[in-house]
Amino acid sequence: MRLDEFLFEDGQGNSYLIKNHLAYMPIDQWIQSETGQDPNSTDLDEEQPDDQETWVNDPRFQKVPDQEFKDYLARQKADQTHRVSKSSGDKRQAAMQQVKQNWSDMPPARDKKARNKDYYTQPYIHGSSIKFMQGSHEIDVESVKRIIKMRPKNLLKQNEKMEHSGGGDIYFNVGLPALRGVAVNEQTNEIIYVNTCPGAGACQKFCYAKKGNYIMFKPSWEKAAKTLNFLINDPAGFDSMLSAEIQKQEAKWGKQGFQINVRWHDAGDFFSDQYLTLAFNIAKKFPNVNFYCYTKLADVMLSKKPNNFISNWSEGASGDQNVIIKKFEAKFGKLKRSIVVPSSMFDKYTEYKTYPDPEKPKKKIKELAWHSDAALSSFKRDLVLNFNVPKDSIITYKELVNTPRGNQPKWNIIVRPGDGDSGANRNDVDGVFLLFH
Ligand code: SF4
Repeated sequence: MRLDEFLFEDGQGNSYLIKNHLAYMPIDQWIQSETGQDPNSTDLDEEQPDDQETWVNDPRFQKVPDQEFKDYLARQKADQTHRVSKSSGDKRQAAMQQVKQNWSDMPPARDKKARNKDYYTQPYIHGSSIKFMQGSHEIDVESVKRIIKMRPKNLLKQNEKMEHSGGGDIYFNVGLPALRGVAVNEQTNEIIYVNTCPGAGACQKFCYAKKGNYIMFKPSWEKAAKTLNFLINDPAGFDSMLSAEIQKQEAKWGKQGFQINVRWHDAGDFFSDQYLTLAFNIAKKFPNVNFYCYTKLADVMLSKKPNNFISNWSEGASGDQNVIIKKFEAKFGKLKRSIVVPSSMFDKYTEYKTYPDPEKPKKKIKELAWHSDAALSSFKRDLVLNFNVPKDSIITYKELVNTPRGNQPKWNIIVRPGDGDSGANRNDVDGVFLLFH
């Protein structure tokens, strides 16, 4: 059973866990003693950031001298030049060959170990956004800063997939750069690095947002960088723009009977208390919209949230964050969570199948399919053995979408690549098993 089921409010603002007729210490007191944070510090009645406020001077952000940033941009540009100039022939390949010939002090090709150091410590920047100064092969730092300082056209991104259950759900998300983000202090024009995932542990290594579509295309990194830069330079402006977008979507889709759902961060996390407060206040402004997040920060998981805000403890957090969550669960019961299931556990029961999309016949759908009902049943048995969840609580994502929403945690959901995100956004879901290769 999960935390919500045991809570007892004493009428003076304290919540107690009641188990076997015994009350432990108040949960708030426990959280404060373990995390040093007041769980109520994200005061839901707190005012919106004022127009003059800026977060750029947060001491946790790293100020980076222009020369250091320029050296990194040169390494990044050189990596792209080496890579693309070797790829099979197209216009870009020819252009990169040309750059290679003319760039006299181009950094040499690096081995994986050297590139890895940048992977963990530097923000991702698409090579084609890195330009040279006119008429030379000197990296133009200011042109990268100009990109970052532009305001994004919009903050909400609609997920392609809409879940049709009951009146229908529609999903949007707000994204930040994964792991390290770059911004510009707009008062001083200095480069700042922001650790956007302060709770990240093992997940850094296999981070989905450091590969694929997130980095392949120039607009993806630019949008994430602009969003972060806007947020920390002008939180009030960010708040108003996002609120206006949610209001517009609510008006548009609400009329058609859709439920609006907003996921904070397809990448990144709540890197500061101020940011978390901003998110909670937005949720408070839109009581009919569902907000949710995955987090690897214990403070975020354990903070008091508006009723329309759900958090999911996401595996892969750093050791210190896991210790707090484990201690909490040992005392107060399991929290809602998402677990990435290793492919070795499901490969033997599944295969990829391709078939025409029933809605768009010209399009093909590639789906991870079970060999048989018996294979699915065996996989469920393995989940029971490995993760200690009741077998009859495990259902597939398709089954969840066709199950009316409840209020008590009950289901553990198997989510395959391409399935939606409804499990993370429902109170009746206890856990999500993600089957990603
Ligand atoms: S917390 Fe998420 S976005 Fe950040 S590094 Fe881990 S997997 Fe990537």
